[in-house]
Amino acid sequence: SGVTPLNFSPGPTSLAAEVQTSIKALFDAERMCSMYLSHRSPEFFDILVSAVQRCRMAMNIPKEYEILFMHGGGHGQFAAVPLNLCTHGDEKATYLVNGTWSKRALTDASKYCRPVVVSSENQDGTFTHNPSLENLDPESKYVYLCSNETVNGIEWHQLPKLGIKAPLVIDASSDFSTKPIDWVGCNVGVLYACASKNIGHPGLTLCVIRRDLLGTPSPLCPGVLCYTTNTREGNLWNTIATFNVEVVNIYMQWMIAQGGVHEMERRAIAKSSMLYDLIDKSEGFYTTPIADPTIRSRMNIPFDVAGGDEATTRNFLIQGWERGIVGLRTLTPFGVGKYLRASLYNGVSMDQVEVLVAFMANFMKTCR
Ligand code: PMP
Repeated sequence: SGVTPLNFSPGPTSLAAEVQTSIKALFDAERMCSMYLSHRSPEFFDILVSAVQRCRMAMNIPKEYEILFMHGGGHGQFAAVPLNLCTHGDEKATYLVNGTWSKRALTDASKYCRPVVVSSENQDGTFTHNPSLENLDPESKYVYLCSNETVNGIEWHQLPKLGIKAPLVIDASSDFSTKPIDWVGCNVGVLYACASKNIGHPGLTLCVIRRDLLGTPSPLCPGVLCYTTNTREGNLWNTIATFNVEVVNIYMQWMIAQGGVHEMERRAIAKSSMLYDLIDKSEGFYTTPIADPTIRSRMNIPFDVAGGDEATTRNFLIQGWERGIVGLRTLTPFGVGKYLRASLYNGVSMDQVEVLVAFMANFMKTCR
C-alpha cells in the first residue's frame, strides 16, 4: 500500500537496512554467491572462516570455545544439548524454567537425561519471575537456562554465576549479540542461538561449545546434532546452510561496524526503555505482565491495550497497520492471551521504535 513496513515480529524479523542491501549485492557481484557455491569450494571456505572469526570477534568468544553452524533450529538444540552432554539417559541436568522455551526444552530433554526441574511457573500457567538459584543439584551435568524468554518477555540481563561446578547451557536464541557475555566468569559450557532474530534468517543455528565438553556424547546422538563430530569435521560434516552462513557473516560485519555488542546493548536498553516508559506512564491503558524491571526483556515486550478489550485491540492493530506497523500479534501456539508483543531486535532501529511509541501515545489519546 506504499507504506514502508515497520516489522516488530518475534521472528523471523527485520534485518537492518544495510544488511538487506549487502545481501542484495551478493547476487550482482562478480564472484559467485554462497547460495549456489559448493560448500566444499575454497570460495565458500573463505566465507565460513570469516563468519566464524567475526562471531568470535563480535562476541569476544575465547579460544577454548568452538563455533558451529548447525541445522535443526532451537528445537534441534533442545535434544542436542542432553545428547551431547550426557553419555547416558540416567545422568542428571538442572533445568531452570522461566517461560515457554525453557519449558519446551525440558520436555525434549526428558527423553535423553534425568532433568531436575527448578521452575517459576505460576499456578495459572503464566511466568512473571525467575526461579531461585539456591540449592542447585551439585550432581547435575549442566544447568540449563533460556537467557531471553521470547514469548513471556523475561530476560537475564546478566548471566548468573552459579555456586556449583556444573557449566551453564544457554538458549540465547532471542538475545544473542544484544549484550556481552562473560564466557569464562559465568562458566558457560554451551550457548546456542537460532539465527532468525538477531543474526540472520531461519535455517542456521549458532552453537558455541567449550572444548572440554566434547568427546563424550551419548551413543544415540545423531551425527547432524553431534558437537564432537561437527567440530572434528570443521563445520562440514554434511552440507552446511551455505547462504545462511554468508548472511551471518554480513550481519556480524554490520554489527562490528556499528560499534559492536556494547552499542547493540546500549540501543536495546534505549529502545525498550522508550516503550516501557510509555506503558508505565499510561495509567493502565497499556500494561505489561512483568512488573520487575530487572527481568523485563529488552527484546520482546508483551503489552495489552485497554485491559485486553478485543474491539479496542483490533482497532489498535488496524490503525497501526495503516501506518505500516506489523508483527505485534502473531498466531503463536502458546496462548499469550490478551497480550500483544513488540519485538525490538538488533535489526529494529531507534527511529522505528519512536514511530511505534508515538503511534501508541496518540492512540491512547484518541481513546480517552
Ligand atoms: N528458543 C527461543 C528462546 C526462541 O525464541 C525460539 C523461537 N522463537 C526457539 C527456541 C525455537 O527455535 P526454532 O523455531 O528455530 O526451533
